Amino acid sequence: MGIIWNGKRLFDNKKPYKTLLISCFMVEEKDCIFCKIVNGEIPSEKTYEDDNFIAFLDINPKAEGHTVIVSKKHFRNLLDMPTTLGNEMLDAVKNVALDLIKNGNAEGFNLVVNNEPAAGQIVFHAHCHILPRKKDDGLKMLV
Ligand code: 5GP
Ligand code: ZN
Repeated sequence: MGIIWNGKRLFDNKKPYKTLLISCFMVEEKDCIFCKIVNGEIPSEKTYEDDNFIAFLDINPKAEGHTVIVSKKHFRNLLDMPTTLGNEMLDAVKNVALDLIKNGNAEGFNLVVNNEPAAGQIVFHAHCHILPRKKDDGLKMLV
């Protein structure tokens, strides 16, 4: 049982409040893994949160402390994200990276943004990667 609008089920008996909110503000895309992490349906090791972004450890780390910074709203990638939000993402990047450096978990970092499949994007929800670096850690980057 539930409410159907425009052929879509708006909410059912299980999570009416959350689903109604999400439908109204259109911040979530069905079946998007990062939307599910943002709304707490899938657990993550969260390391940072502000009004528009969260950061959590990557499930398949390419370096120790590999962190993804994810927009709370769903956009396909950087190309869809409003530029003002891009500025805020850079603030989040700096906060996360400075924390890693202050805590001795990094001496520097690489910032990676994969956009579209040709560039290696596998999760189609705007995000960027912080790869903590230490001198002589042996990690090879493309550039
Ligand atoms: P990209 O789309 O930029 O290639 O990378 C997406 C990243 O998300 C990958 O590095 C992948 O390991 C990570 N990832 C995918 N699913 C999950 C998940 O459920 N939890 C976490 N923590 N990371 C994930
Ligand atoms: Zn999403």
